[in-house]
Amino acid sequence: MLYYSTNGKAPLATLEKAVVKGLAEDKGLYMPEHIKPLPKEFYDNIEKLSFREIAYKVADAFFGDDIDASSLKDIVYDTLQFDCPVKEITENIYTLELFHGPTLAFKDVGARFMARILQYFLKKEGKLDKEHQVNVLVATSGDTGSAVANGFLGVEGIHVYVLYPKGKVSPIQECQFTTLGKNITAIEIDGVFDDCQALVKAAFMDEELNRHMKLTSANSINVARFLPQAFYYFNAYARMKEKGLADKLVVCVPSGNFGNICSALFGKRMGLPIKRFIAANNANDIFYKYLQTGVYEPKSSVQTIANAMDVGAPSNFARIIELYKGEHRDICADISGATYSDELIRETMRQCYATTGYILDPHGACGYRALEEQLLDGETGVFCETAHPAKFKDTVDGILSTDIEIPARLQAFMHGKKAVVPMTKEFTDFKQFLLNQ
Ligand SMILES: *Cc1c(COP(=O)(O)O)cnc(C)c1O
Repeated sequence: MLYYSTNGKAPLATLEKAVVKGLAEDKGLYMPEHIKPLPKEFYDNIEKLSFREIAYKVADAFFGDDIDASSLKDIVYDTLQFDCPVKEITENIYTLELFHGPTLAFKDVGARFMARILQYFLKKEGKLDKEHQVNVLVATSGDTGSAVANGFLGVEGIHVYVLYPKGKVSPIQECQFTTLGKNITAIEIDGVFDDCQALVKAAFMDEELNRHMKLTSANSINVARFLPQAFYYFNAYARMKEKGLADKLVVCVPSGNFGNICSALFGKRMGLPIKRFIAANNANDIFYKYLQTGVYEPKSSVQTIANAMDVGAPSNFARIIELYKGEHRDICADISGATYSDELIRETMRQCYATTGYILDPHGACGYRALEEQLLDGETGVFCETAHPAKFKDTVDGILSTDIEIPARLQAFMHGKKAVVPMTKEFTDFKQFLLNQ
């Protein structure tokens, strides 16, 4: 399968190139040339298959031309060492819990899959030795660093450098990438997030550095991070079908950069029988407004308590436009929107906890509320719980007056030994450090 750019001005790329480069030469996003529908028999019997079996079938449709069957199966099975279960909250609202991975958020699925795909290509070319090592540079304000670091942890042939702003990342987030050791190096920058990002960008542009070492990014627009997210929507459908509730399924996705919902839309294009979708936003309502007006007006993001969705220019918007050939009417037929202030998010968390006992995180709360408001008679809703509430413990406890338990795997990070490289925000220092590696 080849990949084309949403900007239409870059040459077609192989999967390997699309994964290693991330963005196309014309700064567009890569799209698979074909989206292969899965056969009717697959959907007829899907409820008899396990999550991993389903995921492998979906992976085969995207990556089967480029990766041999047994390697692809290993990659999928090794990625999904945790479940993405569907649980009942009310009679017609179910949660798809995406927080059972190592860093307790859905980004674990894509990050783990991408690491294994990258390693597959290195291995195939006999490049797993130190000399050919691929170096992933990632700047983080918290969550991306932990998902990428854990996704790549222990993956031979790849080293990850996580750059984060000193004192600006919560202790819970920080320990998820500073205590890992092995092939993960955490670099604490004396600056802000933008300084970290500037250092990473400067490194990618520096010729001497690029001659010295192979650098790549693990950006969330990467096809190997974005497409595997479709796996759990197929599984959600299967599990709802098992319960006899899959007839009029509405899937609601708390959205920021729109990568997660976009992979679900790819699923629908492959024949997954989901009736319609809701994209739930916090106060950053750019997509919501687009649905109402047909005009896309990116702007600066505003800070909210669902901060992983604080995005003012959703990077995957271009993929949605491409998928629907720019037809606003068709997009509105499949997706409706919602937007919630912090106050409404808090109210929703309190109301859900009081009436059902379920603890929502601020992101999932947007999804739950949108279903409560928009489900029609006879429809069943599934919303994504995109992160474990303990990741936002202070916020959640403050709103619900709880003392929620921190899962053991998160506690394990907190007890680990912290190891960081302190660094100024000067590129010369960062460059010298990398040249010495
Ligand atoms: C990244 C993230 C989102 C937003 O997902 P997109 O794919 O960017 O739309 C929502 N919730 C949480 C917890 C996240 O980490």
